[in-house]
Amino acid sequence: MPELPEVETVRRGLQQLAVGRTVLGVDVLNEGSFQTESALDGARFVAARRRAKMLLLDLDDGRCLAVHLKMTGQLVVRGADDWGGGHPSDSLIGELPDRSTRVVLDLDDGTRLFFNDQRKFGWMRVVTQETVDEMTGGLGPEPMDDDAWPRFRELVRRHDRTVVKAALLDQGVVAGIGNIYADEALWGARVHPAARVGALSDKALRRVLEEAAEVMTTSIDLGGSTDRNYVDAEGRRGAYLDFARVFRREGQPCQRCGATIVKTRVAGRGTHICPKCQRLPRG
Ligand SMILES: [Zn+2]
Repeated sequence: MPELPEVETVRRGLQQLAVGRTVLGVDVLNEGSFQTESALDGARFVAARRRAKMLLLDLDDGRCLAVHLKMTGQLVVRGADDWGGGHPSDSLIGELPDRSTRVVLDLDDGTRLFFNDQRKFGWMRVVTQETVDEMTGGLGPEPMDDDAWPRFRELVRRHDRTVVKAALLDQGVVAGIGNIYADEALWGARVHPAARVGALSDKALRRVLEEAAEVMTTSIDLGGSTDRNYVDAEGRRGAYLDFARVFRREGQPCQRCGATIVKTRVAGRGTHICPKCQRLPRG
């Protein structure tokens, strides 16, 4: 599933490729993937924003095209030269539309924005800014925001009896962290994922948040992760997983201490730890 860095990478692509463009037509190939009460035709994209894992494409009439990629969603922009015939050589996506294409937007510069979604959990919704506020109201702070710590501290402390990994995955505590970056952040902060929040000091929790921000920044620099299904707005895959320290590194030595990384299960999710660097605190 795309996490914050992957969605942010897509956002940056859309900022370059879609902002400033006017929608000429919408072709909905799967009804459930596109919800609107008013037509999108003639509206111009004026900004590409992101909140947690939601993409928010603001329109010049005050509305917003909100997109959630969920499990397998992809947003890929193709230029006029790229469709019909070949496709950009560094794109992993072949000719579009393909069997996973659910919505196609025709833009005024001859490019097309394809919404692919193999499993159909993702969606596009044309909504008002009030609806955007409602949809994002319950979310925790963005981990990369400078002022995230006080809000995160307040929210995470309401979960003192929860294991810290579950709290990190809770979008109401902190936005956009999924399985990959939770494991990476906890390893970076030397915190055991099964530690209760209440057993951790503010200092340790702050380190976890800072590590999350750092690994996400690194991942964005690398174009997001190499996880399956994820591609950026040009159909390319990221490189982050090549640099992950614990995620899917079971059986390999810890970069910090040399102990063998193990895979376990915490908060119902496959979890990767260094058993030496990440000790379970008492209590
Ligand atoms: Zn270690």
